[in-house]
Amino acid sequence: MSKVRVRFAPSPTGPLHLGGARTALYDYLFAKNTGGDFVLRIEDTDTTRFVPGAEEYIMEALEWCGIVPDESPKHGGPYGPYRQSERRAIYDQYTEEILKTDFAYIAFDTAEELESIRNEYEAKGEVFSYDNKTRGYLKNSISLSEKEVQELLEKKTPFVVRFKMPFDRVLNLEDIIRGKFSVNTNTLDDKVLVKNDGMPTYHFANIIDDHEMKISHVIRGEEWLPSMGLHILLYEAMGWEAPEFAHLSLILKPEGKGKLSKRDGDKFGFPVFPLDFKDPITGVVSKGYREEGYLPEAFVNFLALLGWSPANDKEILSLEEMTKEFDLYKVHKAGARFSKEKAEWFNHQYLQKKTDEEVVALLINSRPEIADENREKLLAIVRLMKERATFPKDIFESGKFFFVAPTTYDEKASKKAWNVDTPTILTSLIEKIKNTDPFSAENIQESLHQLSEEQSVGMGKVMMPLRLSLVGELKGPDVPDMMEILGKEECINRISNALKNIQ
Ligand code: GLU
Repeated sequence: MSKVRVRFAPSPTGPLHLGGARTALYDYLFAKNTGGDFVLRIEDTDTTRFVPGAEEYIMEALEWCGIVPDESPKHGGPYGPYRQSERRAIYDQYTEEILKTDFAYIAFDTAEELESIRNEYEAKGEVFSYDNKTRGYLKNSISLSEKEVQELLEKKTPFVVRFKMPFDRVLNLEDIIRGKFSVNTNTLDDKVLVKNDGMPTYHFANIIDDHEMKISHVIRGEEWLPSMGLHILLYEAMGWEAPEFAHLSLILKPEGKGKLSKRDGDKFGFPVFPLDFKDPITGVVSKGYREEGYLPEAFVNFLALLGWSPANDKEILSLEEMTKEFDLYKVHKAGARFSKEKAEWFNHQYLQKKTDEEVVALLINSRPEIADENREKLLAIVRLMKERATFPKDIFESGKFFFVAPTTYDEKASKKAWNVDTPTILTSLIEKIKNTDPFSAENIQESLHQLSEEQSVGMGKVMMPLRLSLVGELKGPDVPDMMEILGKEECINRISNALKNIQ
């Protein structure tokens, strides 16, 4: 068998959706699992849908995931250029070639003419299709005489090139994921292959490039399954061997029904894009997993398992492990339901695997305002709070009191924790604290016990107002641990403040 070569071929029409990112990942995993090449090709022939910044976004998103192409517009390679807009000369040559076969013809119908025919059909309750039943009545090189065609060409009348779909042929197709199925060509229309500006459409450019770039396997979203028949016939028309095809199922909404769409992220409260994307025209920002605090390892891991599971049902796998175990033939035929909870679970798992130093760096990254805090203090906070965090920012949010002293005190908590003898208890506590050396969690614990005995009050009567003084509410980790990190002076200040402010 010739070398495996797969390509991810996005159109730069916006940010990469989760489904697109998963296609790229499966392309990559299959290529690397089989010792093959992974090619990134930018399909930008449709200038009307071009979005500035989308190509850069796609590259950055793949890079963030750790998916490095062997060949791409950025990395170069032996089959470039890898941007379709730069391959016009190649397409021109094949346009000439396909016109010499019986699989293509030129058509002069204008957009307005086709529109009015479409409307006539609609008025009759029918749907117009440019195909083997209608082409004989339309304005093209099949219906017109050679002389008429010549005249139109001399007058520089704009034309498109259309595929001449064969009449009543049954195509027996085979897809790696979906198995065998057949399509009758009478259900397919005469697709435009080359537009009137000479640029090929997706279908034509796509098969030319897959052939030229020696692509062995086409792995793509199931929305392209209906085009497979046309593509197979295009290979036949050109006399080329077709690659193998694998059409991936949809990623479904959390409730399990319907495709997860670009707008669903806002609705369900999770991102549907790898990175934040700011629409250059509307200025609207769509949220990304990276900015939300996901680790790329977690993102790639949960994405890979949306549609594939390794043999032993292992869940936590690095990109290297996935590469070893990935099997395109075991990718699920059914759609994969997206679960926010599961995505968060993966992030939690990967966050726990990070060293405290790494988490400190992530925490600072998500909260630059704490960059100047004492390193040891940050490490101690992370050590104490990491276990309960899903995202690095959680550590800041649930441990805010480590960085800012409370200025207000939760009313309900104050009622519950503060009573007439609290001021006496806390005033003695300040004295106790002054003599607690070294100021370690263990010694603090001991001092608190002594105080409760000396004052003949239960531990609750000491701990609750103390916690309220330090945090501003009755939340947070173990009090002595927290006090050690805050330090003696800060604890005394906070208790004194509470004594002044809580009645
Ligand atoms: N440019 C197409 C897309 O963005 C590629 C489809 C294919 O992989 O053939 O979906």
